[in-house]
Amino acid sequence: MPASDLDQIVNLCKRRGFVFPSAEIYGGFRSSYDYGPLGSLMLRNVREAWISTMVQQRDDVVLIDAAVLGPPQVFEASGHLSSFSDPLVDCKECKQRFRDDHLEDHEVCPNCGAKGSFTEAREFNLMFKTTAGPVEAQGAEVYLRPETAQGMFVNFANVLQTSRKKPPFGIAQVGKSFRNEITPGNFIFRTREFEQMELEYFVPPEAGPRWYEYWCQARLDWYVGLGIPPEMLRLRAHDADELSHYSAGTSDVEFLYPWGWGELEGIAQRTDFDLTQHAKHSGERLDYFDQASGERYVPYVIEPAAGVNRAMAAFLLAAYDEDVVNDETRTVLRLDPRLAPYKVAVLPLSKKDTLTPLAKQVYATLAERYMCDYDETQAIGRRYRRQDEIGTPYCVTVDFDSLDDGAVTIRERDTTAQVRVPVDALAGELAARHGC
Ligand code: ATP
Repeated sequence: MPASDLDQIVNLCKRRGFVFPSAEIYGGFRSSYDYGPLGSLMLRNVREAWISTMVQQRDDVVLIDAAVLGPPQVFEASGHLSSFSDPLVDCKECKQRFRDDHLEDHEVCPNCGAKGSFTEAREFNLMFKTTAGPVEAQGAEVYLRPETAQGMFVNFANVLQTSRKKPPFGIAQVGKSFRNEITPGNFIFRTREFEQMELEYFVPPEAGPRWYEYWCQARLDWYVGLGIPPEMLRLRAHDADELSHYSAGTSDVEFLYPWGWGELEGIAQRTDFDLTQHAKHSGERLDYFDQASGERYVPYVIEPAAGVNRAMAAFLLAAYDEDVVNDETRTVLRLDPRLAPYKVAVLPLSKKDTLTPLAKQVYATLAERYMCDYDETQAIGRRYRRQDEIGTPYCVTVDFDSLDDGAVTIRERDTTAQVRVPVDALAGELAARHGC
């Protein structure tokens, strides 16, 4: 059973070193999180799984890594300065602040129950502004990007020229984005600093609808392929009044969070809005000349935009399970091996010096290939439980017989089944099982 309560994941993440409240020794920094030894590995695995599917296994997508800070011109052209905002209301009674579009009842305050106590909705721009250089003078303002997408649009001509791709082709990016969210919350679901994985896929205008359908399905399939049960996912098309300023149609991949269905990823048809805007504002030509047809056109864009942190939350929630092994309840994260922080834990049966050299040798060999853990303290049963709880798919146990027969035991997380294999065959055996 997946986690039914967000606290199951929040507690596990704190206890085992996935996620810590940021600046905790100073009382915490509201709705900010730091990723610990296991969380940082898992984030990396989410990113790599995305890059593997979206870039590595395709010949029509290239990766870039653009600047986080940008000049106002970029965000004037993109429309973010004028319209990247959320409607904000305050309750005059309890002073609590809400996103108007998130309120189910616009009359009654969900916090204090007061009736008709909301202020008029005001538009609140979500961009973080700062200044560059030593003087806080006018003209020195710069913005932290609220999405990675603009990096792809402003580099469209550079990438087109250097990569020699032609539509349909995509530019992908993974990196941090910043939004001054009015109501951050639900752990790492909504924070002010987060990481995105975005693809801008450029197509001939008439091919837009077809590629939109394609990407909606492909992105849903990606989450299923990494272990989220299909019944916890759905595609939901936005109503016309929900659409962003640039969108001709958007669908969300939604996940069944403990608090209900919510966005996991958005797939938007951005049309030629961004390239046209940047061409107009920069004076540069941002289009494509099709030599075969002799036609020049501004490509349409389909954008699958996902969140690394939000995806990690969904993978953790879906993978969480409790079962009974040897009359004992255990917590187990049934993570896909590609997402698990450690792929293998090497566990010498005892701390005795005689086992250490072989165990260390096994560890060194496997660590060339996988992120591995090495743990020699406490009873072996407790060490298995620790690894189950952090999702390690395999434990390799080195015992006293290993010194004579040159074999070790592989123990599988999901079934707890054990098999004995010669040390020489270990790496091959794990590779066959991992599929990675
Ligand atoms: P929401 O409606 O939840 O505010 P959005 O529609 O503004 O999200 P997009 O602009 O489509 O989000 O961003 C694409 C993806 O980036 C989201 O699906 C989500 O995974 C991630 N994301 C966006 N905002 C945040 C945030 N504040 N914290 C964590 N992840 C976020």
